[in-house]
Amino acid sequence: MLGLGIESTAHTFSCAIIEKKGKKGKILSDVRKIYRPADGEGIHPREASRHHIENSSSVLFECLKEANITIKDLNLISYAAGPGLGPCLRVGAVVARSLASFYKIPIYPVNHAIGHIELGKLLTGATNPLVLLVSGGHTMLLAFLNKQWRVFGETLDITLGQLLDQFGRSIGFASPCGKNIEELASLSSNYVTLPYSVKGNDVSFSGLLSATKSIAKKSKIDACYSLQETAFAMISEVVERALSFTGKKELLIVGGVAANKRLSDMLQDVCKRHGSKFFAIPIQYAGDCGSQICWTGLLESEVKQGALLKDTLVIQSWRLDSVKVDY
Ligand code: AMP
Ligand code: MG
Repeated sequence: MLGLGIESTAHTFSCAIIEKKGKKGKILSDVRKIYRPADGEGIHPREASRHHIENSSSVLFECLKEANITIKDLNLISYAAGPGLGPCLRVGAVVARSLASFYKIPIYPVNHAIGHIELGKLLTGATNPLVLLVSGGHTMLLAFLNKQWRVFGETLDITLGQLLDQFGRSIGFASPCGKNIEELASLSSNYVTLPYSVKGNDVSFSGLLSATKSIAKKSKIDACYSLQETAFAMISEVVERALSFTGKKELLIVGGVAANKRLSDMLQDVCKRHGSKFFAIPIQYAGDCGSQICWTGLLESEVKQGALLKDTLVIQSWRLDSVKVDY
């Protein structure tokens, strides 16, 4: 089976081709173009969607060329139908729908967050993990039970990615800022006390954001270091409690923030204490990409026919714990 996956939920427009044989998947190509707002500014949905429109045909062309196939070789097309920014989501949906209707190829709307998880499982070999999804759009702790992903903790306000990006922008970086903050943090070991807010098994980051902005006036590197230490300790606490509660023997971390080495180190310590195996998605596939969407579409095709064109819409706030997973 050959699938094309299209991702356009936020900053990234990406197309990928995966070949599926049984339960194995081989990524033949994964091409991305990322919208970058001006320094200090966040994603502007209309500007990002314009970026996606302008780049969609070249990304698709390159992706087919790299995989050495033509559109007619495809068995299915999947696209990220949500959650995400409406204007951005619609670009991917329109490209997918146009190709599917013109070439008569089955089409699969895919939940973007489930895409992060399924690609993580494919690339790491984790089979029944507790999942930590930390990205621009999500901060969630999940485990699979009775055909659905169940939430064992999440953010009550902004996501971990938003915390890093909003703080990074306030000190002059361009979004996404996680990598810049990680680099600055590695230059300090001076911890300045910041608000630590875990409620039940949920986290809240907005107070931490305001307090970090105010200590950055004294030292940016101490602020980056203290921000990472505090936020990642909060995440580690809720992961540890969920590991203990669910008894899972695997922890899988996915999403753009999974690229952070300090976060991985802290979670590895937690796993050691609980005798659980630690899996992190390879950095190259941690952020948004077409492979996530493509692989999930291929998995869905095991149990479902393609969608009717009238059902190929977008859903901006499509929660992953509302999706039935039958494959
Ligand atoms: P995604 O929404 O999955 O594409 O993830 C994007 C998020 O990942 C943004 O908030 C980035 O700042 C964050 N990110 C990327 N690289 C790193 C890193 N090395 N450390 C922390 N956060 C990162
Ligand atoms: Mg994402």
